[in-house]
Amino acid sequence: MSLLKIINLHKRFGDLHVLKGINMEVEKGEVVVIIGPSGSGKSTLLRCINRLEEPTEGKIILDDIEVTNPKADLNRIRQRIGMVFQQFNLFPHLTALQNVTLAPIKVKKMPKEEAEELGMRLLEKVGLADKADYYPSQLSGGQQQRVAIARALAMNPEVMLFDEVTSALDPELVKEVLDVMKQLAKDGMTMLVVTHEMGFAREVGDRVIFMDQGVIIEEGKPEQIFTNPQHERTRKFLSMIL
Ligand code: ADP
Ligand code: MG
Repeated sequence: MSLLKIINLHKRFGDLHVLKGINMEVEKGEVVVIIGPSGSGKSTLLRCINRLEEPTEGKIILDDIEVTNPKADLNRIRQRIGMVFQQFNLFPHLTALQNVTLAPIKVKKMPKEEAEELGMRLLEKVGLADKADYYPSQLSGGQQQRVAIARALAMNPEVMLFDEVTSALDPELVKEVLDVMKQLAKDGMTMLVVTHEMGFAREVGDRVIFMDQGVIIEEGKPEQIFTNPQHERTRKFLSMIL
Protein backbone atom coordinates (compact mmCIF):
# COMPACT_ATOMS: atom_id res chain seq x y z
CA MET A 1 0.00 0.00 0.00
CA SER A 2 1.17 3.53 -0.76
CA LEU A 3 2.12 5.83 2.07
CA LEU A 4 1.31 8.94 0.04
CA LYS A 5 -1.33 9.20 -2.62
CA ILE A 6 -2.01 12.23 -4.80
CA ILE A 7 -5.18 12.10 -6.84
CA ASN A 8 -6.02 14.53 -9.63
CA LEU A 9 -4.32 17.47 -7.95
CA HIS A 10 -4.93 20.89 -9.47
CA LYS A 11 -3.59 24.23 -8.36
CA ARG A 12 -4.55 27.57 -9.81
CA PHE A 13 -3.19 30.98 -8.91
CA GLY A 14 -5.97 33.13 -10.30
CA ASP A 15 -5.96 32.48 -14.04
CA LEU A 16 -2.67 30.63 -13.91
CA HIS A 17 -3.25 26.88 -13.98
CA VAL A 18 -0.05 25.58 -12.40
CA LEU A 19 -0.84 21.94 -11.54
CA LYS A 20 -3.09 20.22 -14.05
CA GLY A 21 -4.16 16.92 -12.61
CA ILE A 22 -1.20 15.33 -10.86
CA ASN A 23 -1.55 11.66 -9.94
CA MET A 24 1.18 10.02 -7.95
CA GLU A 25 1.73 7.32 -5.37
CA VAL A 26 4.74 6.96 -3.13
CA GLU A 27 5.58 3.79 -1.26
CA LYS A 28 6.94 3.77 2.24
CA GLY A 29 10.74 4.06 2.08
CA GLU A 30 10.72 5.13 -1.55
CA VAL A 31 12.88 7.99 -2.86
CA VAL A 32 11.13 9.82 -5.68
CA VAL A 33 13.11 12.46 -7.54
CA ILE A 34 11.14 15.15 -9.35
CA ILE A 35 12.82 16.96 -12.23
CA GLY A 36 11.60 19.48 -14.73
CA PRO A 37 12.11 22.98 -16.12
CA SER A 38 11.81 26.05 -13.97
CA GLY A 39 8.16 27.07 -13.60
CA SER A 40 6.80 23.57 -14.25
CA GLY A 41 5.14 23.43 -10.82
CA LYS A 42 7.58 21.31 -8.79
CA SER A 43 7.68 23.61 -5.78
CA THR A 44 3.94 24.15 -5.91
CA LEU A 45 3.44 20.38 -5.87
CA LEU A 46 5.61 19.93 -2.77
CA ARG A 47 3.99 22.91 -1.07
CA CYS A 48 0.52 21.47 -1.70
CA ILE A 49 1.57 18.18 -0.12
CA ASN A 50 2.03 19.78 3.29
CA ARG A 51 -0.62 22.42 2.65
CA LEU A 52 1.68 25.42 2.47
CA GLU A 53 -0.45 26.00 -0.64
CA GLU A 54 -4.12 25.16 -0.77
CA PRO A 55 -4.86 22.75 -3.61
CA THR A 56 -7.63 23.98 -5.90
CA GLU A 57 -8.90 20.49 -6.59
CA GLY A 58 -7.96 16.90 -5.89
CA LYS A 59 -7.00 14.74 -2.98
CA ILE A 60 -3.82 14.08 -1.05
CA ILE A 61 -3.78 11.15 1.32
CA LEU A 62 -1.03 10.31 3.78
CA ASP A 63 -1.40 6.87 5.27
CA ASP A 64 -4.59 7.19 7.29
CA ILE A 65 -5.33 10.91 6.92
CA GLU A 66 -6.67 13.02 4.11
CA VAL A 67 -4.29 15.97 3.98
CA THR A 68 -6.71 17.90 1.79
CA ASN A 69 -9.62 17.55 4.20
CA PRO A 70 -10.51 21.15 5.14
CA LYS A 71 -10.78 20.01 8.74
CA ALA A 72 -7.37 18.33 8.80
CA ASP A 73 -5.03 19.49 11.55
CA LEU A 74 -2.34 21.48 9.72
CA ASN A 75 0.12 21.31 12.61
CA ARG A 76 -0.17 17.57 12.70
CA ILE A 77 0.22 17.34 8.92
CA ARG A 78 3.41 19.40 9.00
CA GLN A 79 4.79 17.23 11.77
CA ARG A 80 4.23 14.16 9.66
CA ILE A 81 5.51 15.75 6.44
CA GLY A 82 8.84 17.52 6.92
CA MET A 83 10.12 20.02 4.39
CA VAL A 84 13.50 21.54 3.59
CA PHE A 85 13.82 24.52 1.26
CA GLN A 86 16.46 26.04 -0.97
CA GLN A 87 16.83 28.89 1.51
CA PHE A 88 17.65 27.33 4.84
CA ASN A 89 15.40 29.67 6.85
CA LEU A 90 17.12 28.98 10.17
CA PHE A 91 16.29 31.28 13.05
CA PRO A 92 19.33 33.60 13.11
CA HIS A 93 19.12 34.36 16.82
CA LEU A 94 19.09 30.67 17.84
CA THR A 95 22.02 28.26 17.93
CA ALA A 96 22.08 25.15 15.76
CA LEU A 97 20.84 23.06 18.67
CA GLN A 98 18.13 25.58 19.58
CA ASN A 99 16.95 25.62 15.98
CA VAL A 100 16.53 21.85 16.13
CA THR A 101 14.86 21.71 19.55
CA LEU A 102 12.47 24.63 19.11
CA ALA A 103 9.59 22.76 17.48
CA PRO A 104 9.78 19.64 19.71
CA ILE A 105 9.64 21.91 22.77
CA LYS A 106 7.00 24.35 21.49
CA VAL A 107 4.81 22.12 19.35
CA LYS A 108 5.29 18.69 20.87
CA LYS A 109 5.70 19.99 24.45
CA MET A 110 8.78 17.83 24.83
CA PRO A 111 10.77 18.51 28.04
CA LYS A 112 13.84 20.63 27.27
CA GLU A 113 16.32 17.99 28.36
CA GLU A 114 14.75 15.30 26.22
CA ALA A 115 14.58 17.69 23.26
CA GLU A 116 18.28 18.51 23.66
CA GLU A 117 19.17 14.86 23.73
CA LEU A 118 17.18 14.33 20.56
CA GLY A 119 18.70 17.48 19.04
CA MET A 120 22.24 16.32 19.73
CA ARG A 121 21.49 12.92 18.26
CA LEU A 122 20.18 14.56 15.08
CA LEU A 123 23.08 17.01 14.82
CA GLU A 124 25.37 14.01 15.12
CA LYS A 125 23.45 12.30 12.34
CA VAL A 126 24.09 15.26 10.02
CA GLY A 127 27.72 15.50 11.16
CA LEU A 128 27.42 18.68 13.20
CA ALA A 129 27.52 17.64 16.83
CA ASP A 130 30.56 19.90 17.32
CA LYS A 131 28.63 22.92 15.99
CA ALA A 132 25.64 22.66 18.34
CA ASP A 133 26.33 26.03 19.97
CA TYR A 134 27.13 27.91 16.78
CA TYR A 135 24.74 30.47 15.36
CA PRO A 136 23.67 30.21 11.70
CA SER A 137 25.90 33.15 10.71
CA GLN A 138 28.90 31.18 12.02
CA LEU A 139 28.11 28.20 9.80
CA SER A 140 28.72 27.60 6.09
CA GLY A 141 25.74 27.23 3.77
CA GLY A 142 26.18 23.47 3.69
CA GLN A 143 26.27 23.31 7.48
CA GLN A 144 23.19 25.52 7.76
CA GLN A 145 21.34 23.29 5.33
CA ARG A 146 22.29 20.23 7.37
CA VAL A 147 20.94 21.94 10.49
CA ALA A 148 17.73 22.61 8.57
CA ILE A 149 17.48 18.90 7.75
CA ALA A 150 18.08 17.98 11.41
CA ARG A 151 15.41 20.48 12.39
CA ALA A 152 12.88 18.88 10.05
CA LEU A 153 13.78 15.42 11.33
CA ALA A 154 13.18 16.51 14.93
CA MET A 155 9.45 16.21 14.41
CA ASN A 156 9.94 12.58 13.43
CA PRO A 157 8.23 12.96 10.04
CA GLU A 158 7.02 10.03 7.95
CA VAL A 159 7.82 11.80 4.69
CA MET A 160 10.48 14.36 3.86
CA LEU A 161 10.14 16.89 1.04
CA PHE A 162 13.32 18.49 -0.34
CA ASP A 163 12.95 21.48 -2.64
CA GLU A 164 16.23 22.20 -4.47
CA VAL A 165 18.07 22.15 -1.17
CA THR A 166 21.51 22.38 -2.77
CA SER A 167 20.75 25.04 -5.37
CA ALA A 168 21.86 27.97 -3.25
CA LEU A 169 25.10 26.32 -2.15
CA ASP A 170 28.63 26.82 -3.40
CA PRO A 171 29.58 23.76 -5.47
CA GLU A 172 32.06 22.44 -2.91
CA LEU A 173 29.32 22.33 -0.24
CA VAL A 174 26.78 20.39 -2.25
CA LYS A 175 28.19 16.95 -1.54
CA GLU A 176 27.99 17.16 2.25
CA VAL A 177 24.27 17.88 2.03
CA LEU A 178 23.60 15.19 -0.59
CA ASP A 179 25.53 12.71 1.58
CA VAL A 180 23.20 13.41 4.50
CA MET A 181 20.20 12.87 2.22
CA LYS A 182 21.71 9.68 0.88
CA GLN A 183 22.16 8.34 4.41
CA LEU A 184 18.59 9.31 5.24
CA ALA A 185 17.40 7.34 2.22
CA LYS A 186 19.46 4.35 3.35
CA ASP A 187 17.84 4.57 6.76
CA GLY A 188 14.49 4.05 5.02
CA MET A 189 13.04 7.56 4.97
CA THR A 190 10.31 8.19 2.41
CA MET A 191 11.51 11.16 0.36
CA LEU A 192 10.31 13.43 -2.44
CA VAL A 193 13.27 15.29 -3.83
CA VAL A 194 13.15 18.14 -6.33
CA THR A 195 16.70 18.56 -7.59
CA HIS A 196 18.94 19.27 -10.53
CA GLU A 197 21.57 16.91 -9.13
CA MET A 198 21.27 14.13 -11.65
CA GLY A 199 24.04 12.12 -10.02
CA PHE A 200 21.96 11.98 -6.86
CA ALA A 201 18.83 11.11 -8.84
CA ARG A 202 20.61 8.19 -10.50
CA GLU A 203 22.30 6.89 -7.40
CA VAL A 204 19.64 7.40 -4.73
CA GLY A 205 16.34 7.72 -6.59
CA ASP A 206 14.07 4.71 -6.81
CA ARG A 207 11.98 6.56 -9.34
CA VAL A 208 12.30 9.76 -11.36
CA ILE A 209 9.33 11.88 -12.35
CA PHE A 210 9.65 14.43 -15.12
CA MET A 211 7.20 17.33 -14.92
CA ASP A 212 6.55 20.03 -17.46
CA GLN A 213 3.88 22.75 -17.45
CA GLY A 214 1.98 21.29 -14.53
CA VAL A 215 1.71 17.71 -15.71
CA ILE A 216 3.74 14.56 -15.23
CA ILE A 217 5.18 13.82 -18.66
CA GLU A 218 6.79 10.53 -17.73
CA GLU A 219 8.22 8.56 -14.86
CA GLY A 220 10.37 5.52 -14.43
CA LYS A 221 13.53 4.07 -12.95
CA PRO A 222 16.40 6.57 -13.11
CA GLU A 223 18.28 4.32 -15.51
CA GLN A 224 15.34 4.29 -17.90
CA ILE A 225 14.57 8.02 -17.73
CA PHE A 226 18.18 9.05 -18.21
CA THR A 227 19.22 6.58 -20.88
CA ASN A 228 15.98 5.98 -22.71
CA PRO A 229 13.42 8.75 -22.15
CA GLN A 230 10.18 8.13 -23.99
CA HIS A 231 9.12 11.70 -24.60
CA GLU A 232 10.66 14.41 -26.70
CA ARG A 233 10.20 16.98 -23.92
CA THR A 234 12.09 14.80 -21.45
CA ARG A 235 14.89 14.32 -23.97
CA LYS A 236 15.09 18.05 -24.60
CA PHE A 237 15.22 18.86 -20.89
CA LEU A 238 17.88 16.25 -20.18
CA SER A 239 20.00 17.37 -23.10
CA MET A 240 20.00 20.89 -21.66
CA ILE A 241 21.06 19.94 -18.16
CA LEU A 242 23.28 16.87 -18.60
P1 ADP B 1 9.08 25.22 -10.20
O1 ADP B 1 9.32 24.93 -8.76
O2 ADP B 1 8.95 23.99 -11.04
O3 ADP B 1 10.11 26.15 -10.76
P2 ADP B 1 6.79 26.67 -9.22
O4 ADP B 1 5.91 25.67 -8.60
O5 ADP B 1 7.63 27.51 -8.32
O6 ADP B 1 7.69 25.96 -10.34
O7 ADP B 1 5.94 27.67 -10.08
C1 ADP B 1 5.04 27.25 -11.10
C2 ADP B 1 4.30 28.44 -11.63
O8 ADP B 1 3.45 28.95 -10.63
C3 ADP B 1 5.20 29.59 -12.06
O9 ADP B 1 4.64 30.17 -13.20
C4 ADP B 1 5.12 30.54 -10.89
O10 ADP B 1 5.35 31.86 -11.29
C5 ADP B 1 3.70 30.33 -10.41
N1 ADP B 1 3.53 30.59 -8.96
C6 ADP B 1 4.15 29.93 -7.95
N2 ADP B 1 3.75 30.39 -6.76
C7 ADP B 1 2.87 31.38 -7.02
C8 ADP B 1 2.08 32.26 -6.20
N3 ADP B 1 2.14 32.21 -4.86
N4 ADP B 1 1.28 33.15 -6.80
C9 ADP B 1 1.20 33.20 -8.16
N5 ADP B 1 1.91 32.41 -8.99
C10 ADP B 1 2.72 31.51 -8.43
MG1 MG C 1 10.86 25.44 -7.48
